[in-house]
Amino acid sequence: MAIHGVEDFRRALGAARRVTVLSGAGVSAESGVPTFRGAGGMWRRWSATDLATPAAWARDPGLVWEFYDYRRQRMAEVRPNRAHIALAEFEARWTAAGRDFTLVTQNVDGLHEAAGSVAVTRLHGSIWHVRCVSCGQVTPNRDVPITPAFAGAGSPDPATKTRWFGPGDLPFCKCGGLLRPHIVWFGESLDAQDIGNAVAAASRCDVFIAVGTSAVVYPAAGLIPRARAAGAVVCEVNPEPTPATPDVTVHFSGPAGEVLPGLLDGLPG
Ligand SMILES: [Zn+2]
Repeated sequence: MAIHGVEDFRRALGAARRVTVLSGAGVSAESGVPTFRGAGGMWRRWSATDLATPAAWARDPGLVWEFYDYRRQRMAEVRPNRAHIALAEFEARWTAAGRDFTLVTQNVDGLHEAAGSVAVTRLHGSIWHVRCVSCGQVTPNRDVPITPAFAGAGSPDPATKTRWFGPGDLPFCKCGGLLRPHIVWFGESLDAQDIGNAVAAASRCDVFIAVGTSAVVYPAAGLIPRARAAGAVVCEVNPEPTPATPDVTVHFSGPAGEVLPGLLDGLPG
């Protein structure tokens, strides 16, 4: 099926039974979520790739928690934008019509859930959950600061007068184990069940929508060719072309909050 514009795409979407969406940082950028990638993404003298690692955690969990506490302070202030809302409202109409919907996200900010999305697979974890390093239990946690010791801490300014956060300052599980951010760090594997769900959803859908993702971070980026190989109509929404653009069925250029409502609103009709 040749798809050349919004109306063609909406016709294909309206005829679909199963829809899978992959969302990336571009969806949250319009809400003002800090990305910590590229220039300007520094926290003091570190980049996220220095601190969001198992090695950084092993060296100084207090410093890693101070960095994440700062991120949680910032993310506590942001709200879902029109892209999150368009997806949540589409899911509600779509599933009410008895059709299948899966949202796979690379974002850790919880904004899809805040907008009302239900079927969310979080490939890279959640800034609003903590995990015990001893018993493995994952629990929701919205405490900002994460413990009283971090009150007033976390400034990104390199000139900040810093202090060291020791065991008495850190969050602990009921079992006595240290709690860490429930985030997939650089060098760590994705949860096998999460990636399994995502691959299954990409493989069985009729329409696959990749939105706000640079399509360079694997294995998430691999979902796009997988959906295409399985015969899905693959739609990409992004302000810029990506490495996946030559292989998608149709590319819509623009910010997610401007483009998605025009693609999804009112469907399935
Ligand atoms: Zn525990």
